[in-house]
Amino acid sequence: MPAAADYTRGGTQKTVYSDAEVVAVRCPLCNADDCDRLSTEYQSVAIVRCRVCALIYTSPRIRAPAEVYWGEYETFLEEARLIFDGSAQHHREPNYREELDMIESVSPGRGRLLDVGCNMGVLLRDARARGWTTVGVEPSVALARIATEQFGLVVHNCFLDQVSPSEHASFDVMALSDVFEHIPDPLAFLATARRFLKPGGLLYLKSPNARWNLLKQRMAGSLRRTPEAGVWDSYERVVHYTDTTIVAMLAAGGFETMSVTSGKPVQSPVWHRYVGHYYQYPSPWFLDWRQHLGRRFFYELARMESRARPGRVGPLAPNLMVLARARG
Ligand SMILES: [Zn+2]
Repeated sequence: MPAAADYTRGGTQKTVYSDAEVVAVRCPLCNADDCDRLSTEYQSVAIVRCRVCALIYTSPRIRAPAEVYWGEYETFLEEARLIFDGSAQHHREPNYREELDMIESVSPGRGRLLDVGCNMGVLLRDARARGWTTVGVEPSVALARIATEQFGLVVHNCFLDQVSPSEHASFDVMALSDVFEHIPDPLAFLATARRFLKPGGLLYLKSPNARWNLLKQRMAGSLRRTPEAGVWDSYERVVHYTDTTIVAMLAAGGFETMSVTSGKPVQSPVWHRYVGHYYQYPSPWFLDWRQHLGRRFFYELARMESRARPGRVGPLAPNLMVLARARG
């Protein structure tokens, strides 16, 4: 059986970064340069908490974190071949269903939906099937090409601020599914995002829950184990939001938060442990039953916790799901 690290995958993440490959940055929310270190990953990357506004962010971070997942066309095509054949689901489809249900609970009229960081376009494909007029933004050449070729989607292959101003004020909904935490300058991004939304337009975003990462780190520490290198995924995640700091960031960026909840965990496939290659379709639950059931168990506990404390997302929830409106 190949070691977990030996498999071929679309991205270019590494297990060690040198000091020359990283850069220290100020707080992306309040611009302070005063923080406490919470953890170190990949040798030279660190997770810190701002002493002024409590935002948790990555510093030092790698220089171009958004490019880590860009990857090779052929590799991605192979990872998802059965999905394009129509013979398998994508492993995130249960999550995408939940996300679209949430968007439609407050924006029932359908309309124009922009998915920023749309990856292979599976969320957009599913949204289109539900009646949305869809547009994607995807800076990876390989992934934008796949979304266009395989699903016939309209995808701008660039960053959001490079999309033509002719699209300004034209979207009812903007979706950021596991994307916002990769953006090094979230305030500049939100200013751009507002230009593309219609007045009062809806911003939906999903992001990992930093309180859950803190808990995972503490559990690993109390078991006297070094936390797995992947607790914060800090080679590519540059801001680590909680239910309070996400609201503060959105407010500073001109958005009023309507709700912060949590959603189902992503059940990441583990094919690579058995066949030496990563695939995007779900692996049978019994191949990693401990992690699979563990994620499910904590998620059910988090649901109970959120019923006890409405409006708050505690440390057991895997992610944050946020609905916000652009202020007029
Ligand atoms: Zn700060």
